[in-house]
This record gives sequence, structure tokens and C-alpha cells, in this order.
Amino acid sequence: MVVGACVWFIGVGQGVFDRVGRYIIQHELLNLVMLTACLGVGAVVATIRKSILLRRAIAARMAAEALAEKSARHDALTGLPNRRLFGETLESALSRCSAHETFAVLLIDLDRFKPVNDLHGHAAGNAVLCAVADRLRGLMPRGGVAARVGGDEFVVLVPFFQDRDALVTLVQRINAAVREPVPWNHGQVEVDSTIGVAFATPGDHDPDALLHAADVAMYQGKREGRGTFRFFHSEMDVALRARARLESDLRAAINRGEVRPFYQPIVSLPERDLVGFEALARWDSPEHGSVPPDVFISVAEETGMICDLTCRILREACSDARGWPPNLQLSVNISATQLRDPRLAAALLAILTETGFPSGRLEVEIAETALLSDLEAARAALTSLQNLGVKIALDDFGAGYSNLRHLREQRFNKIKIDKSYLANVEQGGERAKLADAMMQIGASLSLQTTAEGIESDANLDWLSNQGCDFAQGYLFGSAMSKDEADKFIQSGKAASSPPEAHAA
Ligand code: C2E
Ligand code: MG
Ligand code: MG
Repeated sequence: MVVGACVWFIGVGQGVFDRVGRYIIQHELLNLVMLTACLGVGAVVATIRKSILLRRAIAARMAAEALAEKSARHDALTGLPNRRLFGETLESALSRCSAHETFAVLLIDLDRFKPVNDLHGHAAGNAVLCAVADRLRGLMPRGGVAARVGGDEFVVLVPFFQDRDALVTLVQRINAAVREPVPWNHGQVEVDSTIGVAFATPGDHDPDALLHAADVAMYQGKREGRGTFRFFHSEMDVALRARARLESDLRAAINRGEVRPFYQPIVSLPERDLVGFEALARWDSPEHGSVPPDVFISVAEETGMICDLTCRILREACSDARGWPPNLQLSVNISATQLRDPRLAAALLAILTETGFPSGRLEVEIAETALLSDLEAARAALTSLQNLGVKIALDDFGAGYSNLRHLREQRFNKIKIDKSYLANVEQGGERAKLADAMMQIGASLSLQTTAEGIESDANLDWLSNQGCDFAQGYLFGSAMSKDEADKFIQSGKAASSPPEAHAA
């Protein structure tokens, strides 16, 4: 600009412009000048436009970078910070942690979320997650951060001012907020939450260790009843390590074929003739001793090992039972989780084919709780088993919900009355009335009934008189090895086995 002004002053002062003007007019150069001027204006406009476009591109790029940065650190569905951002927040909180400034980490795991997804679809699941995220945001105290760190897992970091009661109140409010129904498709869906709480203490530097502690407390809560919360304490970790050891030992034992079927006799009533055996899994571990099935079966169910375990039990039991007289049946237990596996019927058929055991002699026992989580899947699985010719018994009837809808909607072949009803049943009382009612229900639906846990002759006589079809219990024998079962069959001992047999 300065150079331009100087040129203009000199040009005006020296009369250069007048002379140039005259020269242009004399030589008829006006068109040329106009062309040059237009080109100049064009060049200036092009430069300005280019600069505007460049600025826009830079702004768009910066916005895209900011968005990418945000989505790398935030959960796309709920908008909450994700695991990465939460990890950074936790790390920086730990670096500031002192006697005056400490904090707590709350790990929140949703209960009953899977059934929402399975029964109502993923959109319903997403609605639940977004609602939970909004409610968490609304409950955050000053300085609190909520994040989504897994499918149905959230985590919260809150300042802790040595006021445990205030923290308990917050945790309870979170539990209650999550429990609030979420509107969905003219109806509503419901979930629950289990919360594990761990405290940071000055000197803690490992964010993973803190999250692990909250996780351990959360699992303890799940094991003890869900919809609740637990504060971490170090004994929990010890229990968790023991459980991890049991898990890995069980996995190895299943692979080595150390979990084996034992056989408990089942007799007909009133004859007391042996009609078959129930295969019951037994694990005699060198490290843990004889582990009760209730313990290792639930470990196998929680870890997904149950399919492998059941297939091995079934294969061994079918090949053992092939040598029994053809009138004897074999019963095996199938877990709830397996009913959700669409390959169940094919796996069972493959084992029957491989072992040459007739499907008509096999009975599958399922507990009523197996029908609760996904009735449709259970029904499909059971129908395909029945199509193979396998019979289905509803196990432990009376111990769970005893929902008559299950009996109406699925054609069972048999119900097994839970042993908790039958101890001293002959002495009458409420349990006797209920056991009798269960037998009446069975008879009215043309289902056979088996009574479990029969330990005395008096027990047995009462059941015979009520019209029960089969009985099973220590009175006839507890679960025994294959060799013992073979001897049992040969001796025709069922009618007279003494009650002490259960010591085996
Ligand atoms: P269940 O299928 O109801 O098996 C009957 C349980 O009652 C067995 O316990 C048996 O030993 C016990 N029992 C039998 N007679 C008497 C008696 O007269 N008195 C008393 N008090 N108890 C008696 P066990 O063997 O400890 O098995 C517990 C549960 O573990 C079984 O209950 C079954 O649900 C599960 N289970 C066992 N083996 C397997 C398996 O191979 N697969 C699956 N999925 N579950 C299994
Ligand atoms: Mg059973
Ligand atoms: Mg049972």
C-alpha cells in the first residue's frame, strides 16, 4: 500500500499520469489497458476466493479432527466418555490423590440386560443403555464422571470426602434410578444393576488395579443376589483367586475326562423294579477333593464349559448304558444355558449315533429355571429333542416357580417332584398337600411323576399310595460308578437296598 501511495504521489507530482494518459489515447491503447485492468481484477478475485476456500477447508478439517477425537474418547451410543477417556481421567485423578483429596470408583453392571436384547431386540437394549446413561449424568455430584466401559457396563468416579453414608446414598440412588422402567413400544422394559465400589488411597498408582477391585466387589454382589452393591475388601480378592483356580482346574479336568458320570437308580412304583439310572456328574479332584456338583456345575455354567462337560458326560453315559438290559432308561441333566444353544439337538444326535444308544431310552432332565430366561428358545430346543425320540422331564418341580404355564406350553413326558417336598411327607402337613397336588397335576396332564430324594420305606409307601409312578433316592442307592451300577443291575437289588448306600 505504501509503495502504491508513493507511486501515485510521484505520478501526480511529475504529471506522469497525464503523459501516460495522452500516450494511451494517441496510440489507441485503451482496450489493452482495460483488458489488463480486467485481468488484474480477475486475479485479485480468484486469489480472494481461493483464500476463502482454503480457510473453509481448514475449518472443516479441524472440525473433523475434533469429532474424531471426541468419538475416539466417547461412546457413540450414549455420548458418555468411553473406557479410554475414563482411563485417562482415572490416571490423572490418581496422580492428584492425597489424604485430603481421594475418590471412589463405582463399577455398575446391568442385570437382566440380555433378556431385554433377546426378547425385545437391540433397539430396546439401546434405549435402556441411553436411559441409564442419562440417569447417571443426572446423578453425578460435582467432580463426578460417568463413563460407559463395556456392553452393559458403566463406571463412575466420584470424589470421596470420608463420608461413607453419602456414598452409600449415591450408590443406592443409582441402583434405584437404573431399576426405573424404560418406556418401550407402548410398554416398558426393566433392568437392574449390581455395583462394586473401590476406594483410591494415596499411593495408589495403578488405575487397572482400582478397576479390578471394583470389578471383584461387583461380582461378589452378583453372586450374592444382584440388584445390590458391595464395597471391595481384600478377602474378596482371595475368594476370587480361589474361584479362578477352581475354574482352570475344572477346565483341565473336563479335558482330561476326570469329570465322570455316576449313576443313581430309579425304580417303578409300587413294584420297586429298577427302570433306569440318572447320570450325575462327579469330580474327584486331586487339589480340591470331591467337589459337589452344585458347585462345579454352576462354575461350568457361568464360564461356558457346561456344553463340553455335558457332552462328555452324555457320551460316557450312553456308551456305559448301551450294555444295560434294553428296558433300562438313562436320564441326563441339561443346563439352562444349553437350551439356548441351537446346536444342542445336533450334538445330542451325533453322540447317540456315535455310541449306538437308542434315543427312545434317553431322557433329558431340565430344571424349571431353564425355561425362565428365554422360553421360546427353550421350547424350540426341547421340541427338536422330542422329535429325535428323546423324552423330557421337568426336574426339581416345586423348587422354582412351579409355573403351570410351562406345563401347558411344553409337552413334557414327566415331572420330577423336588426332594424338598418329600422328606417326612408321610407325616402330613403343608408339604404333603403340595406334593399330592403336584401328583394330581401330573396325572391330569397325563404326565408321569418321579419322586426324588426318597430315604425311607414310610416315604415310599405314602408316595405309592398317592399314585406316584417312579422313585429315586438313597433308599435304593446313591449315585454309583459304572461297575457298581453293573453289579446293582445283576443283583436286582433295587427293591431291598439299605438307606446307608448314600455314603458311597
Ligand atoms: P438333580 O438332577 O435334581 O439330582 C438329584 C440330586 O439329589 C443329586 O445331587 C443326588 O445325589 C441327590 N439325591 C439323590 N437321592 C437323594 C436322597 O435320597 N436324599 C438327598 N438329600 N439327596 C438325594 P447331586 O449329585 O449333588 O447333583 C446336584 C445337582 O447338580 C443335580 O440335581 C443336577 O441339577 C446337577 N447335576 C448333576 N450332574 C449334572 C450334569 O451332568 N449336568 C448338569 N447340567 N447338571 C448336573
Ligand atoms: Mg436331575
Ligand atoms: Mg432333581
